Amino acid sequence: MERQELKDIFDEVLIEGEAKYMEPMSAHTSLRIGGPADIFVMPRTRSSLMNLHINCKRSRIPFFPLGGGTNVLVRDGGIEGVVLSSMQFRNKEAVKEDDTHVYLSVDAGTMLQGLVNFSRENGYSGIEGLAGIPGTVGGAICGNAGAYGYEIKDVLVSVERMDSEGKIGRVRADEIVFGYRSSGILPGELVLSAEIKLRKDEKREVSARVDNFLKMKREKQPLREMSAGCVFKNPSGVSAGKLVDEAGCKGLRTGDVEVSRVHANFFINKGKASASDFIRLMEEVSRRVKEKFGVVLEPEIKVVGRDAVN
Ligand SMILES: Cc1cc2nc3c(=O)[nH]c(=O)nc-3n(C[C@H](O)[C@H](O)[C@H](O)COP(=O)(O)OP(=O)(O)OC[C@H]3O[C@@H](n4cnc5c(N)ncnc54)[C@H](O)[C@@H]3O)c2cc1C
Repeated sequence: MERQELKDIFDEVLIEGEAKYMEPMSAHTSLRIGGPADIFVMPRTRSSLMNLHINCKRSRIPFFPLGGGTNVLVRDGGIEGVVLSSMQFRNKEAVKEDDTHVYLSVDAGTMLQGLVNFSRENGYSGIEGLAGIPGTVGGAICGNAGAYGYEIKDVLVSVERMDSEGKIGRVRADEIVFGYRSSGILPGELVLSAEIKLRKDEKREVSARVDNFLKMKREKQPLREMSAGCVFKNPSGVSAGKLVDEAGCKGLRTGDVEVSRVHANFFINKGKASASDFIRLMEEVSRRVKEKFGVVLEPEIKVVGRDAVN
C-alpha cells in the first residue's frame, strides 16, 4: 500500500497516541536490525486501540503487535501495514489476595523485569527464573518465555485479549495451549493484559533466588550486546547452543553478525548488521549442525517482515 494511501486512511481515525510513517524497526528491536514499518503506532487509550484495529480490518491493512522487540528479527524491507506497540500500556496492580497468594492485573506493555522486581520487593514467588529476560509481559505470554525451569504460563490465571474480529474477552490460562516457547495466541490476536498469581514468600529468599538466576545469566549470556536471545529452540533433550558450539560455529561471522563466543545460541549484531546477514548466518549454522549431528534446528526468534527491494 502506498504511503499517501495509508496516511489518508489513518488521518481519518482519531488516534490518541503517536503514529510514525516509515519508522525504522531497527529503533524498536534489541538486535537493532530491521527496515521501516509502513506505520508504527503507539495508541494511548483502549478506545484508540480498538478504533485502530477496526480501521485496519475495514481497510484490510495487516497489523503486527510489538512488545519490546527482543525476540524478533525484522527483515530489511521492513513491515507492511501497521506495527502496533503495546509499550504504553504498563499498569500493574494487586487485585486480590488470600493467605497464600496475591493476584495481579498486569498490562501487556509492562516490562517483565518490572514485574520480577516488584515480586522481589514484595516477597512474591513464582517468576524468579524469569529474571534478566527482557521485553514485555505480552511478548512473554505469546512466546511462553522461560528459563531455569520457570515459565510464564505457570503463574498465569487468565489473559485478556482482542481477537481478530476486534472483540475483547478474557480466556482462562488453562484454555490456552502453551508449549516450549510457544502459545496458542494467534497472530491476528492482541494480548491486552493478564491476571497473574504469585505465592507469598520470604522477601529475602525471593531476592536471593532472583540474584542467583541473574548471576547465572550474566555469566553465560552476552547480555550487553545486541541480540534477540536464543536464535534456535533446544531440540528435545539437547541444548541448541551446545550443538552450534560443537559444530564449530562460535565466532562464525556473516557481514556484521557473529555467533557469540560466550553463548553459541546468541547471534550478535557487531555494528551495522542487516537481516539478510543474520538469515544467511542462521542458514549456515543450521547446515553445519545438520551435517554434523543430523539435527534440524528450529528458530526460536520470530523472523518477520518483507525482503528489501534492490
Ligand atoms: C539478552 C536476551 C536474553 C533473553 N533470554 C531469554 C530467556 O532466558 N528465555 C526466553 O524465553 N526468552 C529470552 N529472550 C527472548 C525474549 O526476551 C523473550 O522472548 C521475550 O519474552 C519477548 O518479549 P517482547 O515483548 O520483546 O516480544 P517481541 O519481541 O516484541 O514479540 C515477540 C512475539 O510476540 C508477539 N507479541 C508481542 N506482544 C504482543 C501482544 N501484546 N499481543 C500479541 N502478540 C504480541 C509479537 O508479535 C511477536 O510475534 C532473551 C532475549 C534477549 C535479547
